[in-house]
Amino acid sequence: MLTPVERGGLYLPDCGLWMDARRPKPFAVVSHAHSDHTARHASYLATAPTIDFMRVRLGDAVARRGIPLAYGETYPHGPLKIQLFPAGHVLGSAMVRIETQSGESLLYTGDFKTRPGLAAEAIEIPQADTLVMESTFGRPEFVFPESETVQAGIANFCRECLKANQIPILLAYSLGKAQEVLKILEAAKLPIMAHRTIRALNPIYEQHGIPMPETRPLDFDNMEGQVVLMPPTIRKQIPADIPPHRLAMVSGWALQESARYRYRTDTVLPLSDHADYPDLLKFVEQVDPRTTYLMHGSTTALAADLRRRGREAWSLSRDDQLELL
Ligand SMILES: [Zn+2]
Repeated sequence: MLTPVERGGLYLPDCGLWMDARRPKPFAVVSHAHSDHTARHASYLATAPTIDFMRVRLGDAVARRGIPLAYGETYPHGPLKIQLFPAGHVLGSAMVRIETQSGESLLYTGDFKTRPGLAAEAIEIPQADTLVMESTFGRPEFVFPESETVQAGIANFCRECLKANQIPILLAYSLGKAQEVLKILEAAKLPIMAHRTIRALNPIYEQHGIPMPETRPLDFDNMEGQVVLMPPTIRKQIPADIPPHRLAMVSGWALQESARYRYRTDTVLPLSDHADYPDLLKFVEQVDPRTTYLMHGSTTALAADLRRRGREAWSLSRDDQLELL
């Protein structure tokens, strides 16, 4: 039996396997390099790009403890077979498929996106008996616009700012989201200035076959005429006396009316590296599991929704455990 539990990461008690544990473990599988999915494990399985990102963010010693596994290859772990499949979320992101000796299978999505991105591998969807799916945007109101519309919206925001002699400042997480934005700005032929945490990751994209545009290092004194890209944490450092500018957060949460006020930005641009509600429902149909477990975000609501659609589905969060009593 492969029954998952959420315990600061995903744990399979029947075989003692951790995935995306947030505390260091003797061995774990790491789905991707975002900090809420990684820890300083003694040994871990991940894709080569994920290990490279961890080298930049957590140092050489942690990177050396990583065991690289290519998509589709099989890693034997005791009686289990472990495989990684592209998750479409950020470069190197993987869904983890576990198979027991008796042929029972479980798929853990980690964070995933089914729509093709500009700076991540296209998703590949395997079948599994049990599905553990992230459901960050698991409510019906979350329907993202077409990718082309989102990309045009970002380019137009920047062009309009520059035309009005305002500096467009885009806030985007430095791993994944920033590189998607860089590819959009490159296609729009806009001059780019980027924070060093973004520039530090670009060589890894190049090494793994995704060329990135030229960027100038962030310089608060010389931002005029540039599109400025920085992670949201850096906005605190923007001097109060910079020339006229407009701030935009780049986030899937843009679909919520309140997002602009929550982020305290002039606008929010709805580029996401997650699946939206219709994508989540379609994904469950494609994997076609016997049982679906949900992690992150609207787990209880989406589980109830899937059950109404005739699927066995449960939240792994504590709230839903109460629902089961
Ligand atoms: Zn992530």
